Amino acid sequence: MSTLYVPELMLLEGLARSGVGLLVDGRGLVEGVIEGVVGAGSVSAEVTIERMPGRILLPGLANAHSHGFQRLFRGRAEGRAVGGDTFWTWREQMYRAAAFVRPEDMYDVARAVYLEMVQAGITVVGEFHYLHRDQDGRAYLDGNLLSETMIRAARSVGLRICLLRSGYFRAGFERAPHAGQARFYEQPEEYLENLGALAERYRGTDGVSVGAAPHSIRAVPLEAMERIVGWAREHGDLPVHLHISEQVGENAACLAEYGQTPVALLAGRGLLDGRTTLIHGIHLSEGEFAQVAGSGATICSCPTTERNLGDGIFPAEIAARLGIPVALGTDSQAQIDPFDDARELEYHLRLRDQQRGILDGVVREGWKSRDGIGAALLQSATSRGYAALGVNGGSLRAGEAADFLTLDVEDMALLGAESEGLAEQVIFAGSRAAVREVFVQGKCVLRDGEHPKAVEIKMHYRAVQDRYQAVQARYRGAISNGGK
Ligand SMILES: [Zn+2]
Repeated sequence: MSTLYVPELMLLEGLARSGVGLLVDGRGLVEGVIEGVVGAGSVSAEVTIERMPGRILLPGLANAHSHGFQRLFRGRAEGRAVGGDTFWTWREQMYRAAAFVRPEDMYDVARAVYLEMVQAGITVVGEFHYLHRDQDGRAYLDGNLLSETMIRAARSVGLRICLLRSGYFRAGFERAPHAGQARFYEQPEEYLENLGALAERYRGTDGVSVGAAPHSIRAVPLEAMERIVGWAREHGDLPVHLHISEQVGENAACLAEYGQTPVALLAGRGLLDGRTTLIHGIHLSEGEFAQVAGSGATICSCPTTERNLGDGIFPAEIAARLGIPVALGTDSQAQIDPFDDARELEYHLRLRDQQRGILDGVVREGWKSRDGIGAALLQSATSRGYAALGVNGGSLRAGEAADFLTLDVEDMALLGAESEGLAEQVIFAGSRAAVREVFVQGKCVLRDGEHPKAVEIKMHYRAVQDRYQAVQARYRGAISNGGK
């Protein structure tokens, strides 16, 4: 049985269409596939027609970079210091959150953050997962226990997931192992075994895929980086994601160890290609950007997190000019609103240059977006992310999985929106609050803004938060009593 979803307006390849519907083949019970976009009056009597008055339908949003557990300390690492020093920094908070979560907590936290993603219109997440060991730093019986936990959590809320299993082998160049990273470390051999087992387990599974994620050139020495990339290419050409040049200090450390900055180093060894996604990619030289462009790699920008962490401004105009695909990620989960992330790509440049319309001047050339900035940024939020994860979807094309969402044109953020320039209005004025329906592989997982499991998921999340807060309060007490 097929269904035709007929919204008031559809955003197709960045342009508004009316009087058309999205035809979805629901014959496979699990997998819903797009048959095409057709005129509302041109379907056979067997097709169920679902009218969606007052809705804008667009492709599902892809979150190409997430660390789910970091949701736990959102809004709690914003001050400079507690007790007058810089101890209470974001990184230390992250280590403490990482040390805190038991597998069952991880499940509850991940479900909450994935629920929030679905409510924001996200249909697929790239979970860059680097917690592998138990709280004492020992291997679990199943080395993929926590990766599996993330996968189960995503599927339980109806989200597609690409589990980017991260390798993390050291604290950094000439640095002793860091106690806060005890749950991250594996041996390279062990890492590849676990990654292989996970990829094998999910090969051909609906809604779940696996990728390799050598954390960064800081945490993964060059030799191990080469092994992982080579392995990923040999084993089904898995996507490879890694953090790169997020901070200036990382470039300096790489220069000290290898005599080159990270992108130049990896590009020079032939480690970048069309399956590579570089997370952040902020502090690159023009020459390095050209190397990325030449390799076909994607850059995943995480603007909300990057400004939260004070990383720097991603020069999106250079990427656009050189035709480097740019995807988006929520990274630290400081906030989850892909519309906001998309417009920040432009807004940060405006603040930097005290000028408007910066990307619009270059996207028509480099990104081949003849429909301008709105359409180009929408691509970053959708098809670019899908492609970075190696997942089929994000464009509403025939043959893709039916991942899409609707926005309420009556929502105050969008009230009065018109067809002309709709993509721009959606990106620059849209908000996750306007998301009403979310369909993943043809299945409706959010209807009229409501998720059927929301109450239960929130209850479990609150219980973990209560326990986390109690542990943190004891910790702060210990600090103020003179211990540190
Ligand atoms: Zn990250």
